[in-house]
Amino acid sequence: MLMVLRCQSQPLWDLANENKGLLKISTLFTAQNVRDHLGSEQGISKAIDWCKKTGVTHVFIETFRSRYTAKRETLERAKSGFEEEGFEVSGCVTTTQVGKISTGWNLISCYTNKGTQKSLQEIFEYTASIFDEIMIDDFLFTDCQCEECEKARGGRTWADYRCELMVRMSRERILAPARAVNPNVKIIIKYPQWYDNFHNRGYEVSRETADYDRTWVGTETRDYDDKRWGGKVQYEAYYIMRWLGEIGGPKTGGGWFDPYGTTEDTYVEQARQTVLADAKEMLLFCYGSLLRDTGPANVEKLRTEIPGLFKLAALVRNRSIRGILAPKPPNSDAYDEQYVFDFVGMLGLPLVPTAKIDTDVKVAFFSVHALKDPEFSDKLKTMLNEEKRVLITDGLADRLDGVNLDNENLVVLKVGGNPRRLLELTREQLKPIRDRLLGPLGIKFDAPNKVALYLIGEDYLIVENFNDGSVDASVEFLKPVKAMKALVLPIDGDVKISKILGRLYLSEITPRTLVAVEY
Ligand SMILES: [Zn+2]
Repeated sequence: MLMVLRCQSQPLWDLANENKGLLKISTLFTAQNVRDHLGSEQGISKAIDWCKKTGVTHVFIETFRSRYTAKRETLERAKSGFEEEGFEVSGCVTTTQVGKISTGWNLISCYTNKGTQKSLQEIFEYTASIFDEIMIDDFLFTDCQCEECEKARGGRTWADYRCELMVRMSRERILAPARAVNPNVKIIIKYPQWYDNFHNRGYEVSRETADYDRTWVGTETRDYDDKRWGGKVQYEAYYIMRWLGEIGGPKTGGGWFDPYGTTEDTYVEQARQTVLADAKEMLLFCYGSLLRDTGPANVEKLRTEIPGLFKLAALVRNRSIRGILAPKPPNSDAYDEQYVFDFVGMLGLPLVPTAKIDTDVKVAFFSVHALKDPEFSDKLKTMLNEEKRVLITDGLADRLDGVNLDNENLVVLKVGGNPRRLLELTREQLKPIRDRLLGPLGIKFDAPNKVALYLIGEDYLIVENFNDGSVDASVEFLKPVKAMKALVLPIDGDVKISKILGRLYLSEITPRTLVAVEY
């Protein structure tokens, strides 16, 4: 019976194996999934069948999560079961409820505590004795303010103390002990999606990226309007994947998203944003969750898009992106401009996410985050003197001393301490902002709000409609262009493309549709 199912599912499995050098698809079995789904031969066969039907060629099998440790025998049997069927198999650890619990979130631990540190070390020694690669899910942080932490912190800020503490935990309690048990082990730090708060809770992207073997990125934007899980726009997945991709360089692995609070449409948008941001792998969290609630419908829709996602991956790979420099220095404070980059991207301004403020660009966007760079004022002055076009937030303008803001190349974006309000800007209000920012790039773009633009290399552009209705958009170039539809996602998405001289019309782009054009 199972053999028959496997034969039927072969096309996507074959395609995924052919393309895994370009884009790998993976899933995770949490420690509880291991207990509930991988405890028998039948359970393992069922999971293998689901993976093959979904194009999953790499599985992560977790040893620990929330006080539960999966049994060695179960883990080893599942590992060899998958390996025999041609899967790549790695381990995973989720550091929730390890030792002493934080005074903050009850899933999080107090790492100042020696007992917690010892437990942490034991978990990684155990995992490294089974697996050669270990992912750490994005709970490797702390929000504890207990007396022990307060005393150890001394005069430092919580952010400084926690960054030092978690860097030390990684080196002394994770990396060194795991490598002592298994000299071949590679350990992946997976960063959460909430990049503007990393440093406040002890995620330190510079030192931790240097210390770990590989990095991974949370791209779970879910559904902006969902009451429980919402509030994140789709561009966030793109911004953070590109930003951490630059920081991680060749260490950067994949992006990771889940089905919580999603519909089929918003679920697959997470996959598109992850791949569009040049992730080498996408991890579908997690097997157990994808079997219930919205999971099965989401996966069904994703399966239809996988061939297109491989095309998208090929289109972005080895092509640099063009656009507006959008720097967030590591550990920079967001003040009241939390995640402003994500919202600016939704306005149809093609951003180039980066950690560094490089003045040698044609056009840039700066927010309060830029103040982290002690040379920022001088850099801004240099750019304005060189007649570079610059967009800054009103919040940054208010905090700048000694920079003359009365400059024709400077555009101030009214954020008003509430980046979400940017989504209310009308097409007419957006037009002059886009015209001034895109001028130096030699294009004009016209579309309603929540239609993103990406410039991929010298010959591709992507327009993505995140609205629930159809939209018309146009792109104007300095000279006539050829224009060919290269890709449309979803598979039943549609757009009418026409051109008059240098103007390209993308008419009636269906809701929640990505269109790639070669020009
Ligand atoms: Zn504590």
